[in-house]
Amino acid sequence: MAKRIDGKALAAKVKEQVRTEAAELRREAGLAVILVGENPASKVYVAGKEKDCAECGIRSFSHKLPEETTQEELLALIQTLNDDPAVDGILCQLPLPKHLDEEAVINAIRPDKDVDCFHPFNVGRMVIGEPVFLPCTPAGVMEMLKEYEIPIQGKRCVVLGRSNIVGKPMSMLLTQADGTVTTCHSRTEDLAAITREADILVSAIGKTRFVTADMVKEGAVVIDVAMNRDENGKLCGDVDFAAVEPKASYITPVPGGVGPMTRAMLMRNILTAAQNHQA
Ligand code: NAP
Repeated sequence: MAKRIDGKALAAKVKEQVRTEAAELRREAGLAVILVGENPASKVYVAGKEKDCAECGIRSFSHKLPEETTQEELLALIQTLNDDPAVDGILCQLPLPKHLDEEAVINAIRPDKDVDCFHPFNVGRMVIGEPVFLPCTPAGVMEMLKEYEIPIQGKRCVVLGRSNIVGKPMSMLLTQADGTVTTCHSRTEDLAAITREADILVSAIGKTRFVTADMVKEGAVVIDVAMNRDENGKLCGDVDFAAVEPKASYITPVPGGVGPMTRAMLMRNILTAAQNHQA
């Protein structure tokens, strides 16, 4: 039976470290949170991030904008926040309403305040192994592997998904940790044969019960990034947890796995930004 990786407990530990270090800054660290429109899931995420900030002794500046906000108005706000010395990090909650250009918004955030690590400058720094920030979700997974002393060097790692936010940076960080990485996506042929070779399997697809027991090697480490809703509206991941748990050596639950770690790593990035600004 697999050992469960407790993301909630580890996230609490990371946030406690952030709180301690944030208290040692000369001035309070600050996060500006921009939410455009009424997306219910985004509202929940933003509320969670503001709560995390409060717990960590980080100020949060909330900018809730109406659905009909124009590109110019949004870019003007980002410019103001870029220039505001009380703001260390800027987070613009995605997805944006369809009439807004996400790429232009990501590019407008000053890289030293890009605590989501979405800006091409920070993505490039990560790829060459000289990161300023790490993207929160993959960084949270790496932190979990480290905490549970799971070796990566020389291991076969398989990442399901190749999004810019999760899959691609996840593969990159595992490669930098000396894993031998295969990235799979919707065009991958014979996917199950590849996943069966994985010592470490990370799934970030967004499909309930996609990863079944026959796709997992005995003793594999299984990390489930996804946050899906099952037929009863219950939060669940990509992995058929009940069937895979007896086969794996370690497994992350959903909820209580990668999700809390993503939030904790955001707090760490805000602290890093504030430390850099005050250095
Ligand atoms: P995304 O942008 O929709 O990417 C999904 C990826 O899965 C794509 O690369 C896609 O391939 C691949 N895929 C889809 N169907 C597939 C199939 N049948 N076989 C193999 N690959 C397939 O999603 P995302 O933003 O990366 O998020 C992925 C999941 O993680 C979602 O459930 C999301 O809610 C969750 N998430 C969780 C956290 C957290 O904090 N825990 C953070 C972010 C995201 P193509 O590239 O070929 O289309």
